[in-house]
Amino acid sequence: MLAADASRLGSECRTVAAAGAHRIHWDVMDGVFVPNLTFGPDVVAACRPLVDLHFEAHLMVVKPDELAPLYVEAGCDTVLIHAETCPHLHRSLAAIAEAGARCGVVLNPHTPASSISEVMTMIDEVLVMTVNPGFGGQRYIAAVESKIATVRHMIDDSGRSIDLEVDGGISAATAGAAVTAGANVLVAGSAVFGHREGPTAAIKELSNSV
Ligand code: ZN
Repeated sequence: MLAADASRLGSECRTVAAAGAHRIHWDVMDGVFVPNLTFGPDVVAACRPLVDLHFEAHLMVVKPDELAPLYVEAGCDTVLIHAETCPHLHRSLAAIAEAGARCGVVLNPHTPASSISEVMTMIDEVLVMTVNPGFGGQRYIAAVESKIATVRHMIDDSGRSIDLEVDGGISAATAGAAVTAGANVLVAGSAVFGHREGPTAAIKELSNSV
């Protein structure tokens, strides 16, 4: 939703739902962990009744423990927290699961895959950032693909059903490489809302590219 028209988020949710998106991904920024500021829980809650899609909150915030429960209450099915902001990652993930949502860990481009090795038994999702978080429309960092492949091996070895998502610079030009490396969930913002033929054509083009 970061690339959606902020003056009409509800109708943008409906547009991508009709266009074939599987999830609504909320990039939540606190102006501290990242310079940008976006999407409080009330905004997410207001859009929740409008579509029947999976909602996920990607918390780019320095206080995820305080904010995560608010996004579960707002109706998010999944809450993703950054490894870099969680000195007590195990406890933070357990709290999200206890609140009733799926939980997942986000890794910035510099953060090694090994930082999640001891929480693989409790997570539902890993989000590997393919840009440095904070703004939409950034260029995909192909060097992260080796980490995507490493996380894919870790997931396969775990024997658990864990989604491997990528976020940042994903378009029809980059999605194929991310999926080949092991991703099974793609976050796309600019490529969807900025497509010259609109979101339906964009999502079809993305699907065809993988
Ligand atoms: Zn995101």
